[in-house]
Amino acid sequence: MQALTVEPGVAHSARVEEVDEPSGDGVLLRVLEVGVCGTDREISEGLYGVAPKGEQRLVIGHESLARVERDGHGFSKGDLVCATVRRSCGHCLACGEGAPDSCLTGDYTEHGITRLDGFACELVLEHPDFIVPIPRSLGRLAVLAEPTSICTRGVRHALTIGARQPWVPKRALVTGAGAVGLLSAMLLRLEGMEVCVASLEESSSIAEALGAEYVSTRSTDLAGLGPFDIVVEAAGVAQLMLDGLGLLARSGVCCLLGIDGRDGTAQIADKVIGSDTVLENRVLFGSVNAHHRDWVTGVEALDRARQQFPGALEELIALRVPLDRFEEAFAFHGGKATLVLAEPDS
Ligand SMILES: [Zn+2]
Ligand SMILES: [Zn+2]
Repeated sequence: MQALTVEPGVAHSARVEEVDEPSGDGVLLRVLEVGVCGTDREISEGLYGVAPKGEQRLVIGHESLARVERDGHGFSKGDLVCATVRRSCGHCLACGEGAPDSCLTGDYTEHGITRLDGFACELVLEHPDFIVPIPRSLGRLAVLAEPTSICTRGVRHALTIGARQPWVPKRALVTGAGAVGLLSAMLLRLEGMEVCVASLEESSSIAEALGAEYVSTRSTDLAGLGPFDIVVEAAGVAQLMLDGLGLLARSGVCCLLGIDGRDGTAQIADKVIGSDTVLENRVLFGSVNAHHRDWVTGVEALDRARQQFPGALEELIALRVPLDRFEEAFAFHGGKATLVLAEPDS
């Protein structure tokens, strides 16, 4: 069967090649589509990723949508499903409690990223515990389930942190209008909040379709827009991450979902960190990966958003190409790109 593989650490080593079909116990899945994100791009550039033990190459792809190939383990042939990404390190409290998203050692593995083959291949075998059912009504839009699960975890943690004291969040800011930014805005809108999305682009029809206000940071100073009860940073800019703390209202919470791995130094005003943050009970925190329950609530949220904000999710999946056109998907920056291996009804 065909798979998209890379040699981790080697730039431009991505290629479609024949690999062995999986065998053994588990739920056999036919992969329909995989989403591509910045992590895949970094892996293909040789900056990230680790091959499975004893292997030279890694099958990439961690944003999956698949169809069950045969009955068993509580699933029926034809069911649409997604598979979660991270697996237990096997020796920490959090992983022991089924929360590898909170792994305390960093020794976890991740499909398509770290020491586990990914989903950009025709067939995969998965343990039933790591499979999330997808409603028929959501269909191929469920390829957004993985990035949505990241946002669901971030928002869940923000609301949990905020709720440590009496607090009702009403206004939210999301910086960055990529998939993670827009899906975060979607979740905050579903929570009933007034949401502002800020990014470099001139406009965002998707943000507007989600009922959010959109502002371009080229023409608008974020400092004039606050204060906000929740800020989600999804642009991956360290300075914006620190700036988030200064945009918060009393008891506000700023959640960092983007990654900025560049060398540099971000700055913050003494008054914001030394006084306002203390006197106004503000919090800045980071969030990565997702718990199984974030997948389940994320899938529910996507299906609600599909009805509540017609056309927005369809527009977010901006490029769908077959597996062998992966280079186009990696080079694309106008929304979520996906690699299509099979159609849901094929
Ligand atoms: Zn991703
Ligand atoms: Zn662990």
